[in-house]
Amino acid sequence: MANRVDASGTGESRVNPNVNCLYGKRCPKCGSYGPFEVEVFMRVLLSDDGSSDAEDGTIDYSDDSAAVCFDCKYEGKVGDFNVP
Ligand SMILES: [Zn+2]
Repeated sequence: MANRVDASGTGESRVNPNVNCLYGKRCPKCGSYGPFEVEVFMRVLLSDDGSSDAEDGTIDYSDDSAAVCFDCKYEGKVGDFNVP
């Protein structure tokens, strides 16, 4: 089970507060816990007029997807953000 951390964060704990989409992730350069910009794959319904939501509009990404730290603009891959 993941450790739960008080969101008010007194700063005494260095436990990563990310417990969902960013579980275990933080910026390898500045230590930010996010948000991060991530290049994702998504299926859309493409027609001559443009694109719209597909029935399966699931957003997907992997450790090889491009990622950028919102705070310091560090550019890497999602897997680079798996910092202990
Ligand atoms: Zn950063």
